[in-house]
Amino acid sequence: MKTGLTALKGTKDILPAEARLWQKAEALCREIFEAYGYREIRTPIIEPTELFIKGTGETTDIVTKEMYTFTDKGGRSITLRPEYTPSVVRAIIEHRLYLQPSPLRFYYFGPMFRHDRPQRGRYRQFHQVDVEVFGESDPALDAEILEMADYLLDRLEIKNRELLINSVGCPVCRPSYLAFLRQEAEKLKSQLCQDCQRRLELNPLRLFDCKEPTCQGITQSLPKITDHLCPDCQRHFDGLRRWLDFYRLSYRVEPRLVRGLDYYTRTTFEIISPDLGAQNALLGGGRYDHLMKLYGGPDICGIGFAMGLERVLSVAKISGDEEKTIYFAYLGERAKEYCLQLCRELRRLGLSSIIEYKERSLKEQLGRANKLGISWTIILGEEELTQGVVQLKEMASGEQKAVPLDQIIRVLKILERGQKKLADIDWQNRVNR
Ligand code: AMP
Repeated sequence: MKTGLTALKGTKDILPAEARLWQKAEALCREIFEAYGYREIRTPIIEPTELFIKGTGETTDIVTKEMYTFTDKGGRSITLRPEYTPSVVRAIIEHRLYLQPSPLRFYYFGPMFRHDRPQRGRYRQFHQVDVEVFGESDPALDAEILEMADYLLDRLEIKNRELLINSVGCPVCRPSYLAFLRQEAEKLKSQLCQDCQRRLELNPLRLFDCKEPTCQGITQSLPKITDHLCPDCQRHFDGLRRWLDFYRLSYRVEPRLVRGLDYYTRTTFEIISPDLGAQNALLGGGRYDHLMKLYGGPDICGIGFAMGLERVLSVAKISGDEEKTIYFAYLGERAKEYCLQLCRELRRLGLSSIIEYKERSLKEQLGRANKLGISWTIILGEEELTQGVVQLKEMASGEQKAVPLDQIIRVLKILERGQKKLADIDWQNRVNR
């Protein structure tokens, strides 16, 4: 049926079958982050626009072109968050979380909004999983985060991937590098796109963010920041490489990796996959040692990454958990009442159970069970009630057994745990829990 109403361009519905996969991926992330000492934080989707102008950066593509910004009824400029880090930093300052023992480790799941040109792997509403650590400047932490990301991608069964790292320097070494970069890029200005000509004036580092192939070619020949690091940044970068070697993580240094945001210092990184197409970053992040201070908070360093769930799930080989559902096929009012009670009990035990109310023949009910992809059907009629049993049908094998009413819950629990098939259950002895 067509109503003319469809989801907005660049947004998509996640239907139940796909949502299973999302649940699995989210559960995996949660399990791993918690094991590494991260705790969940949730912040609002809407924030004051200034938050992103100040943090993400006035000259970034996100702020200049991509934000969903509107004026609310109170006349305030509001933005649907395009990224997550500024919100976490705001929350830490607002709730003085920095008074807690550091480092602080947080993780988060949620939708982000960017008004970019939609294409494969690029949506206007997309979902990120983010992690952030505050209060630890040792490069061993940078490597630990990458080791965790590596483990997570392993568990998501994404084999084909590559880790890229870079250092974008710090306020000590970056200004002189930027001056040199501007000087060199000026020589090629006429070959750059309009946007890049503007970037060159405002912030030449942003030249490396350009998505135009011609500009990407030109920036290959520009000076590399890794050749202009101050001794402290060089030491940090060397430290990161040493710890990556320690974890036996392979990586490639990519000097053009500046990552589109203004607040990064020192380490930046991405994990890319050739299976993704043009938008090839599975996750990306870096250090932002001065962001907290920029927002008026204490001088606490930070590092984190964001992983796009749409992209990750488009290449992950994991599958959603098998659905195991019990269906009730009953005949007669007494059987219906018994089934309703049993169904209620099973649901409270966490066993997914479906009961329907339309009067149907047994054959029709079994047909429904097949269509619904049911694992087990409980069949109950007057005859079974008199005998004190239910017929239990394992739909995949077609195996059917009469199970005493007082044993049905135990049997279903065993089957649901996947330990046994119906045919393997020993009916001579009482069924074990
Ligand atoms: P960023 O915040 O741009 O560093 O992005 C971090 C991760 O979020 C990327 O590596 C992608 O996996 C994902 N991502 C970023 N932008 C989009 C988008 N427009 N659509 C889908 N995923 C995105």
